[in-house]
Amino acid sequence: MSKRSNRLPATLLLLALALLLAACVAARAAPPAPTPSAPATTPAAAPTPESVTTQAQPAPTDVAPPTAGPAPTTSATPIVATPTPRPPGTPPRVGLQVGHLRSEELPEELARLRTSTGARWGNTTEAELNLAIANRIKPLLEAQGVVVDLLPATVPPGYDADAFIAIHADGSSNPAARGWKLATPWRTSTASRALMAAVAAAYGPATGLPEDRGGVTFNMKGYYAFSYRRYQHAIARTTPAIIVEMGFMTSAADRGVLFGQPDRVARGIADGVLAYLRQRDPNDGAALLPPDYPVMRAAATGALVRAAPHDDARILLHAEEGARIVPFDKLGEYYQAFVRAGDARVVGWVREDELIATDEQPVFPTPTNP
Ligand SMILES: [Zn+2]
Repeated sequence: MSKRSNRLPATLLLLALALLLAACVAARAAPPAPTPSAPATTPAAAPTPESVTTQAQPAPTDVAPPTAGPAPTTSATPIVATPTPRPPGTPPRVGLQVGHLRSEELPEELARLRTSTGARWGNTTEAELNLAIANRIKPLLEAQGVVVDLLPATVPPGYDADAFIAIHADGSSNPAARGWKLATPWRTSTASRALMAAVAAAYGPATGLPEDRGGVTFNMKGYYAFSYRRYQHAIARTTPAIIVEMGFMTSAADRGVLFGQPDRVARGIADGVLAYLRQRDPNDGAALLPPDYPVMRAAATGALVRAAPHDDARILLHAEEGARIVPFDKLGEYYQAFVRAGDARVVGWVREDELIATDEQPVFPTPTNP
């Protein structure tokens, strides 16, 4: 609290007290708010129209959105970060983040994203759809012994879990845009890759929705909740993480599944997460650590930035000596990196023998909330 509040005129204080009292009375009259740690409630039955039964048929445009169900609250019992490493017998912990939910409550460090409310269709916001799906995933995971944290847009500081799934849906001004896509953080651990592969393998068959190939954006990989270097309210460095764009709210065909058959959507994500948890080795610490490459500068001969990690791949840019190159992946003798040369900023592959390591701090594009 600032010093200024001590100098509030008495009338203002009285007014504030009166408002507080009124709020307390209102809160007592309201039903108790569900908490993220509360026992799983049975999600409301999906209003699945009989007409939406096969994926081959064009879906109607008037499918009602699924019922959102209980929302997590920030006033609930604080989520205790699980330790790394896990003692034997520790049940796996999974964070399901409901994209954009109560984004207006994001902390000061993320204040610029408080107005980021995501996509919408009609009166249904993306957060409402994301919550409806998350509330269906939760009991599926809990039935298999997984501890689930339902998280709003604000992630607990250094959130440490066995998997973190950010649940989002897309919107586009092009009604033909459709399909799902997944992404890991820029610098991604082997575990995050495995989590993404497992969810990708389950989600397509479970939903019948097409993959939006090539649709993965910088905004997904640069998701704010992945940015543990920059923000306190982000995942721990070792938490395997993906962002799921479940489909397009603006596509009638996608809505037929997202709105009309939300249990298929939830099943796809839950099955993928469970498959990952079964196959992973929780004691393989190396798999949990994302790579930590040094920031590079182009060597005296300059550096060729290519579209793929081999010597005959298309050249995107010739970076002059000293150009800053921030790697986030490595394959053979090539780094995949952000390259800044003059006004040009590209992502491409650069041979390691054309680079000189520095001790500069890596700079990634400004995190976003797609
Ligand atoms: Zn979103």
